[in-house]
Amino acid sequence: AKDAGGGGYATYHPDMHDALARRLDLATDLRLALERDELLLHYQPNVDLTSGEIVGFEALVRWQHPTRGLVPPIEFIGVAEATGLIVPLGRWVLREACRQAVEWNRPLKMAVNVSVRQFEDDDVTAMVQEVLAETGMPPQWLCLEMTESVLLTDTDDNLARIVSLKALGVMLAMDDFGTGYSSLAYLRRFPMDILKIDRSFVDRLGAEREDEALVRTIVRLAQRFGMSTVAEGIENETQLTLLQGAGCDTAQGYLLSRPLPAAAATALLTEERNF
Ligand code: C2E
Ligand code: CA
Ligand code: CA
Ligand code: CA
Repeated sequence: AKDAGGGGYATYHPDMHDALARRLDLATDLRLALERDELLLHYQPNVDLTSGEIVGFEALVRWQHPTRGLVPPIEFIGVAEATGLIVPLGRWVLREACRQAVEWNRPLKMAVNVSVRQFEDDDVTAMVQEVLAETGMPPQWLCLEMTESVLLTDTDDNLARIVSLKALGVMLAMDDFGTGYSSLAYLRRFPMDILKIDRSFVDRLGAEREDEALVRTIVRLAQRFGMSTVAEGIENETQLTLLQGAGCDTAQGYLLSRPLPAAAATALLTEERNF
């Protein structure tokens, strides 16, 4: 280790070996998971805060591992990014989400997460275009969600990518808004359609008046830039009421619905459930 003193991080510990071994196993397994069709999507409803109607879903990937059970994305998206597997994995997610949206055959917004690595792949626009064509997905039903980190690096190339994706007719959302540090400048520069207010802001709602003011300011800012707003991670009625009062357009969160397997999401749509 370079720096054995101080931080304690360089000190070897058996747990680190376990953690590393687990990550390596995971990388090998993940490669096979794609071939073996072990990935699946859950869908979290996005609800209009005025009408209570479902206006869309966010597709969230899970991995049905043969021995570990249902593995959440936090445990394998990082590995997928580090190994480059995120490119085929992301393509699979996009195709499956579009296939499902076409099967539902309703004008709902299907939101799909796109990671930085996937976004910076040279062919991202061609890939999206191919999947739209393969699945027959109307471009205006698709929303690509990306985090601010996409907008922070290599800005000229990334701006060109954003512009060419927009030209396909898909919507673009800025995910986890407020967690990066150059948010405001990038709002001006990039033509995003939707701003997703990060859960960390929603969490605090109800505790302090200042937090309410902060959310109101974010919503107004988005409106000034012609963007609609989605609040993430709504867990209680207080948050719901405050977000409605702030003029936020739509919301997702456990209060409304957890992410659901495809069959359960289909059932929700069929019974035309309002929230
Ligand atoms: P994200 O895009 O910010 O997605 C929202 C996460 O918050 C989801 O976790 C969702 O289940 C969770 N969530 C929703 N409502 C609530 C709530 O009321 N309370 C709390 N505590 N959590 C809530 P999930 O599905 O575990 O995904 C975690 C992250 O993994 C996502 O964060 C996204 O960054 C990434 N991810 C998921 N699916 C994909 C994918 O297909 N591709 C890529 N590149 N990343 C993905
Ligand atoms: Ca997201
Ligand atoms: Ca988010
Ligand atoms: Ca997040």
